[in-house]
Amino acid sequence: MPADFSTLSENPLVLIVGGGFAGLECAKGLATADANITLFDRHNYHLFQPLLYQVATAVLSPADIAAPIRRILRKQQNVRVVMETLLGVELEAKVAHFPSGDVCYDYLVLASGVTHSYFGHDDWAPLAPGLKTVDDALEIRRRVLSAYETAEWEADAASRKAELTFIVVGGGPTGVELAGALKEIASQTIPKDFRNIDTTTAEIILVEAADRLLGALPQKLADRALHDLQDMGVVVRLNSLVTNIQSGGITIGEEFLAAKNVIWAAGVRGSDVTESLGVELDHQGRVLVTDNLSIAGFPEVYVIGDLAHVIDSDSQQQVPGVAQAAIQMGQYVAIDICRKQGQEINYKPFVYHDRGSMATIGRNHAVATIGGKHFSGFFAWLIWGVIHIFPLISFRRRISVLLAWFWSYFSLSKDVRLITGKSSLKIKKSLGAVSKSGKRIS
Ligand SMILES: Cc1cc2nc3c(=O)[nH]c(=O)nc-3n(C[C@H](O)[C@H](O)[C@H](O)COP(=O)(O)OP(=O)(O)OC[C@H]3O[C@@H](n4cnc5c(N)ncnc54)[C@H](O)[C@@H]3O)c2cc1C
Repeated sequence: MPADFSTLSENPLVLIVGGGFAGLECAKGLATADANITLFDRHNYHLFQPLLYQVATAVLSPADIAAPIRRILRKQQNVRVVMETLLGVELEAKVAHFPSGDVCYDYLVLASGVTHSYFGHDDWAPLAPGLKTVDDALEIRRRVLSAYETAEWEADAASRKAELTFIVVGGGPTGVELAGALKEIASQTIPKDFRNIDTTTAEIILVEAADRLLGALPQKLADRALHDLQDMGVVVRLNSLVTNIQSGGITIGEEFLAAKNVIWAAGVRGSDVTESLGVELDHQGRVLVTDNLSIAGFPEVYVIGDLAHVIDSDSQQQVPGVAQAAIQMGQYVAIDICRKQGQEINYKPFVYHDRGSMATIGRNHAVATIGGKHFSGFFAWLIWGVIHIFPLISFRRRISVLLAWFWSYFSLSKDVRLITGKSSLKIKKSLGAVSKSGKRIS
């Protein structure tokens, strides 16, 4: 049974669900408000998702990019942190359902983000993990590193080739960053560590349904990213809609590509909790909100961050699902709650201030658009590094990430190469014996 925090103060009960960029920023924005805030998250940590691909590709450890929410908010006396998963909400009754019981609210801020969408093919999920959580990143790391271990011990040439083929589905920033990092592992990090296989022959294939990469960035930068990836040796397949994923490969139209390792970076949808609301959702399951980020007819319920479908009041464009938008929404809602509680603040609809977008492609290569100016190559890569170091929570993490990057840059090494969790290493006795030279023979 949940503790009844409502008795602790007369102040309005504010429930924030999600300790990501949006929820955390909203809680911080209410630091001086007369509010009784409870922040719920299914995890006990805030995750800096933009660097998640570096956990998946063995550059960083999870603790470098995740910080306990309780610790982040420890000095803010008006907020309590609860590790719980929201199951659903009854908007009319103003009740949120959790596994341990129901909680009433005066204000509800839903900031539970998005999850992977397999476009109706949920059976592809175990075959092609997506990258959204620490567990996802560790699973991808395990699969990637295990593939090399299996290939080293594999006698059959076709099976070995399939083990050394990595397909990334989706040519947005996550797909581009993953493909570049996987190529670096194969060609720079591990070639000297193996005896039977030449890891530089590993094939990294980036598959995108559209006719270009990085749909949110200008065409010129997308072309540059394509050029850089191809220069590194990544095979980029544009106009290629994946029609099936099965154990051992993917199908694009009539063509089958054999690969043991497929990573999904192609689509997202609103977290399951939105279905319980009974309100209008967009085709990706995100909640349509008004210009002050609340649900129409329920001014006390806000939806922010990736979970919200927001049309910007100025540009009339849909606000993108990026960290800076989530942060701005969190800040806006904190102010709007203060306004509703009687603080003298003029009403203003939410306006998104786009500070730019970027994607890194690999060592010394990135593309960025900032303030209408386009950058690429080494300079963009430096900007990308600076911009991704500062928002990390705590000085310790910034130093730790910086050291890991320096080490990785100068040594070409990616040192967090531990295979943890259930191993997928398949040593098939039937495949053959080992020769005196240590090589497998069929
Ligand atoms: C791999 C990757 C790379 C990215 N790179 C960039 C980038 O370079 N730049 C950029 O601007 N953006 C990037 N993004 C997007 C950015 O991370 C998101 O836009 C941002 O995290 C959205 O913030 P949010 O608070 O809405 O959701 P999230 O940060 O996803 O937070 C949601 C929180 O809700 C919690 N939660 C979910 N469901 C429940 C539930 N039912 N009950 C309780 N808690 C729940 C989750 O545990 C999580 O802590 C990237 C995203 C990914 C996945």
